[in-house]
Amino acid sequence: MIYLDHSATTPTDPRVVQAMLPYFTEVYGNASSSHRFGRAAENAIEDARETIAAILKCQPKEIIFTSGGSESDNLAVRGAAWAARSRGDHLITTPIEHGAISKTVEQLTRLQGFERTVLPVDRDGSVHVEDFIAACRPETTVASVMYANNEVGTIQPIPQLAEAARERGILFHTDAVQAAGQLPLDVNALGVDLLSISGHKFYGPKGVGALYVRDGVDLLPAQTGGSHERGLRAGTYNTPLIVGLATALKLAYDELETRTAHYQTLRDRLIVGVLNSIPNAHLTGHAENRLASHASFVFEDINNRALLDLLSAKGIAASAASACNTGSVEPSGVLLAMGYAPELASASLRLTVGVQTTLEDIDYTVESLTGIIAKLSNQQSACLAG
Ligand SMILES: *Cc1c(COP(=O)(O)O)cnc(C)c1O
Repeated sequence: MIYLDHSATTPTDPRVVQAMLPYFTEVYGNASSSHRFGRAAENAIEDARETIAAILKCQPKEIIFTSGGSESDNLAVRGAAWAARSRGDHLITTPIEHGAISKTVEQLTRLQGFERTVLPVDRDGSVHVEDFIAACRPETTVASVMYANNEVGTIQPIPQLAEAARERGILFHTDAVQAAGQLPLDVNALGVDLLSISGHKFYGPKGVGALYVRDGVDLLPAQTGGSHERGLRAGTYNTPLIVGLATALKLAYDELETRTAHYQTLRDRLIVGVLNSIPNAHLTGHAENRLASHASFVFEDINNRALLDLLSAKGIAASAASACNTGSVEPSGVLLAMGYAPELASASLRLTVGVQTTLEDIDYTVESLTGIIAKLSNQQSACLAG
């Protein structure tokens, strides 16, 4: 099998697993206990917090551990919107956010009387600062724009957007789940108040993430209980996963140059190969301003379901950028927002490379994909003719 779905998840790096192991069986104390078992776990957690803070160039106390990207996104947007309610009730977001943001904003709007503006994106999936500024109102409290998109890989102009927000007293959150491990996470250079990451997208374990919360930013927690994480996230610390998260993030940034160079070589070979050998293929997302690991396409006159099944039969694990139900394929909301017609937005393919991907994998994939698309195109024209 060839795994080209690294935007969905990555394998856990064996070095990360090694770092985690002692915290299951030896250092198993509850980090909130005052005895020696508890202190040992607490030390490991505080080391992990410092490791992550050094990469985000923030204070350790500004890092909140969570169960992953979804929880970090929920806590950031819901928590900030609730806490700032007395100042205003208007939220700004984009049509290309992950469900952890879009559904949270939708719920705040539908059930709790908040208002929202969903910004437009262009054909490349980029948000424009002028549109952001035009959407800001006196009662706007929170804006959330993702750093890099999971479906089309496009990187947003976060420093410019965050600066516009700061000038207007609006809290700015970015979902950096896809960006973490590939793009700089310096929160001051980015200018963000809140930033989400998730371990399993950069060779860490699943079920753990972090939220950066700028000192002084008020959040109302959705999960109440113990006073863990400055009262923002109740629940006994998951020491092994937190150690794994920090270890994986440190490895990703220690090895950033070699990893991104590797990704980029493979991604470019994939994009050039597909566009050169498949006439009805189009690249989606920004041509240059995109994640190094990320290639995404749409194909004219192709049934997406059949495409994924045939790729899978060739041993290639890829993903549609859209949600597939049995038989029918829903057009991707991200591609629709980018201005693609529903037929094209239903025929998308995302191929994301990783540290273990080889040139041979890419060549085999291009060759297989070319054959599959030719076959499906013939079937399609036979259908239309018949
Ligand atoms: C994967 C992903 C999430 C969700 O993270 P989990 O840790 O799986 O909950 C959120 N946002 C983006 C952009 C993602 O790609």
